[in-house]
Amino acid sequence: MKKEYWFYIDSFIHISIKKNNALLYNPYTGKILEYKNNPQVLKLLSRLLLPRNLRVVVMTEKELSNSFIGNFVREIKRSFMGDLLDCSFSDGKPVQMPPHVKIQKDTTYLNNIKGRSVGEKVMDYLSEISIYLNDRCSQDCHFCGEAYRQFPCCHCSRLLGRANRRLNIRLVENLFKEIGGCRLGNINILGGDVLSYPDLEQLTELLNFQNIPHSYFAHYRNIVGHEDGMEQVRRLITEQTQFMVPVSFPVEKEKLRAAFEMLRSIKVQFRFLYVIESMDDFHEVERLQSEFPSVSPIVRIFYNGNNRAFFEENVYVDREDIVAKIPHLKTIYMNSTVNRSNFGKLTILPNGRVHANVNNPGLGILGKDSIYDMLTKEMTTGKSWRKIRKHVTPCKSCVFEKLCPPLSDYNTALGRNNLCHIY
Ligand code: SF4
Ligand code: SF4
Repeated sequence: MKKEYWFYIDSFIHISIKKNNALLYNPYTGKILEYKNNPQVLKLLSRLLLPRNLRVVVMTEKELSNSFIGNFVREIKRSFMGDLLDCSFSDGKPVQMPPHVKIQKDTTYLNNIKGRSVGEKVMDYLSEISIYLNDRCSQDCHFCGEAYRQFPCCHCSRLLGRANRRLNIRLVENLFKEIGGCRLGNINILGGDVLSYPDLEQLTELLNFQNIPHSYFAHYRNIVGHEDGMEQVRRLITEQTQFMVPVSFPVEKEKLRAAFEMLRSIKVQFRFLYVIESMDDFHEVERLQSEFPSVSPIVRIFYNGNNRAFFEENVYVDREDIVAKIPHLKTIYMNSTVNRSNFGKLTILPNGRVHANVNNPGLGILGKDSIYDMLTKEMTTGKSWRKIRKHVTPCKSCVFEKLCPPLSDYNTALGRNNLCHIY
């Protein structure tokens, strides 16, 4: 009698098939198997993935004697991704339940159900708000007009001749009332020069009342020039308060030291946010860190239009970078439905315009449109929270699509969706 086996691939194994390529990934070991232009393996994987098969198929000894299939099955067993079971040991086909991904309030899903809407709990999604209080600043960082589009950083409109707009404190107060029940993880307070915001003390009281971690972004040269503003904040510092201190190059070391001393003297948590554009800047960061070893640094690379090679070397990912991160199953599921960089975030500019991401069109105006309506708009028609790789070229044709880091503002700045050495 011909011997038969159940061949199965575990339900937690991530399988991706794109055109003639296939990838299998074990999130518990980080092991990746890749198959290129191997029709036998692709056919077998497609069979396993048929909904009726639930990743379990019958395999005969004859099939296993095929060298491609035999090697594939051995690799799967060796990588703890699946196994063979003698059919004679079971009365029927074994069943397993591969997960089906959906977000709780998925718009496509809810739109098909009578009486349900995306707005039911949309406020629960809100996790971080960045509030640009003003666009006034006396510094002249050359990256001012662009850096804030690549990573959280201060920004003023001086170059456009429109400086001096600021958010009315009443609008901020109403905003906090509106988001009162949300499970926010962080609030960023940025300018311009936040320390020159006239209602800084009142704002700090409002922030403390929220009892949510909050970060003031204040450039080191602005800290040195604003002892009065620092004094207002000092009186109201809590464990939830943090200062993010952008440091641009070339650095004025005396001023950086003075900013460091001032922040240390008021006993607030703070981090230096180094904005670098080259390897020379990075070496300078290393030198500065040896001078300020107690400060935990954040290094952000600014794309200035001329440092693409620096990006290719330091930001672009390759296969090893992706594998080294060992993406968790939850990460893979999230990557298939939402953009983890953008999801849950809102940014409010000094003119009151609210964005899910400043690189995309606004969702409304603070004070005119409710946060609830704006979040619902982002969930249904927005371009930021749901911007995922499976919808963009060339990532939609790449087997790494769900393992790769989400599309970020660097993709927008460099004008390409794949900052990688793979595709
Ligand atoms: S300190 Fe910030 S807001 Fe001021 S010029 Fe520099 S980047 Fe712009
Ligand atoms: S960036 Fe896109 S093309 Fe490159 S590896 Fe990731 S998913 Fe593939």
